[in-house]
Amino acid sequence: MQKPKISIYDFTDCEGCQIKLIALKEKFLILGKRVDIVNWRLGQENNESGPFDISIIEGAPITQYEIDLLKKLRKESKVLIGLGSCATLGGIPGIIDKAQRKKWYKKIYGDNYRPRGVDALPLSAYVKVDFLIHGCPINENEVIQAMEDLLAGKEPKYCDYSVCFECKQANNPCRLLDNFPCLGPIIQGGCNAICISGGSPCYGCFGLREDAEKKNLIKILEKITDQKEIDRYFSMFLNKVNK
Ligand code: SF4
Ligand code: SF4
Ligand code: SF4
Repeated sequence: MQKPKISIYDFTDCEGCQIKLIALKEKFLILGKRVDIVNWRLGQENNESGPFDISIIEGAPITQYEIDLLKKLRKESKVLIGLGSCATLGGIPGIIDKAQRKKWYKKIYGDNYRPRGVDALPLSAYVKVDFLIHGCPINENEVIQAMEDLLAGKEPKYCDYSVCFECKQANNPCRLLDNFPCLGPIIQGGCNAICISGGSPCYGCFGLREDAEKKNLIKILEKITDQKEIDRYFSMFLNKVNK
């Protein structure tokens, strides 16, 4: 039986999520016995063009070339997966302050520079995406789980809990109770609350939960900090998604 053909592409990003794939080593090699990775610029020399059974795409498409390639990959792929917050939420490329953009281009690159970037939006702004693997960077085990599900003919599932659930499991004191901001209650779990365990707040790189009670959290945040700070929290990863 022919093995499913997989492609792994990347648009504008830091490639950190693909590095996590490479770091999977044995698990990815075992998976590799059941699939053919036929196109992976970062991982191998010889690459085939589509059609593909599954395309995994990292990064935000910010140039017309990348947007056109994304649309082509959508047509050529039975299943299209977004890998990492740049792909799923616009991520780090999406944080840019548009009002300041021209000034910084001029300061850094000079008067003659003509930027090719259009905007940094998630993949879903342009095409239907079948599954999102959030995170900056991803939790690589979520990739393996999603692939296992797909290979078994099942639809991959999102975690049914928020970052708070994992934060409690890690025995962290709650930042909100100590009057520090945190977006954990409305954010999809899966990262093991790594930031809070390391002493930082959750900025939401795993994306909003389906049932996110955003308004309720904002009411709590308003008692802790000012609107500018609340906007800053939401602008990190969540201002490109319409929820
Ligand atoms: S989601 Fe984060 S780690 Fe992954 S490619 Fe984007 S910036 Fe890099
Ligand atoms: S610190 Fe943040 S993630 Fe942890 S329980 Fe409190 S709100 Fe939730
Ligand atoms: S704690 Fe929040 S910001 Fe940190 S990795 Fe998890 S979802 Fe992302």
